[in-house]
Amino acid sequence: MQIALSSAAYAAETVLQEKIRPGEVKFLKFPGGATHPNFSCRDVRLPLQDAKDHYTVVVSESYFSKMEPFQCELKDDETVITKIDFTVEPKEFAHENLHVDSTRVELSEEIKKRVEAESALVKQIYSSPLDSLQFTEPFKAPLKSKITSPYGIKRNYNHGKKLGEHLGIDFRAAVGKKIPAANRGKVVLSQELYMSGNLVIIDHGLGIFTQYHHMSKRLVNVGDRVEKGQIVGLAGSTGRVSGPHLHWGANVQGNLVDGFDLINQSKIYFKKSK
Ligand SMILES: [Zn+2]
Repeated sequence: MQIALSSAAYAAETVLQEKIRPGEVKFLKFPGGATHPNFSCRDVRLPLQDAKDHYTVVVSESYFSKMEPFQCELKDDETVITKIDFTVEPKEFAHENLHVDSTRVELSEEIKKRVEAESALVKQIYSSPLDSLQFTEPFKAPLKSKITSPYGIKRNYNHGKKLGEHLGIDFRAAVGKKIPAANRGKVVLSQELYMSGNLVIIDHGLGIFTQYHHMSKRLVNVGDRVEKGQIVGLAGSTGRVSGPHLHWGANVQGNLVDGFDLINQSKIYFKKSK
């Protein structure tokens, strides 16, 4: 005889509903008390901060979302404590046409190889985040200057078919302008790359990273602990750019997300935590 699963076991489990849009972030906080807490979304394990009385996790949705609902689970070993049903809501992104030197669009084989190797290096960095939040305050935009290109804008180069998506925020910044860190963290990359020029990447823990591109000078080294507001470099026009500016990127769980959403969601998280 087969024994049906006890419905009481399921009654103890909490089901939450959440909404997210492409390129967005969600901080989630749960009551603590599990022996071996673990968290996953779409069956992929994500870092979890165990503060004993509560747990914190950060979920993101890709810009290239398939717009399908997905589920996350907080478990104690294999026992589900909380299920979170995520609905993905649509978000519109603007379109622009850019005129650029065609050699900047079509890369030579040699440059292509370099770009691929550098992109693999950056991906590697994102795969091993610090497992606890490195900050105690919300994120802050590195600059207050005019946004010359927003997150998510779709780009056509020279009216051609080649499409690109701008998955960061461009701030107007003259060469030499001091660039502060958006939050506390640890420097995990400080290097000159072909596309990004002088790039600094900061690991803020739990899968959250911020990036500072095209700088004329880097002022921090790998392994440095940086405070929120600490100057990580000076603005410039290194890498594949048409003029000096700061391209500020935010990567959460491997997805390049909207930095302004990271700021807003971190504000909500710390407001609730008080
Ligand atoms: Zn940019």
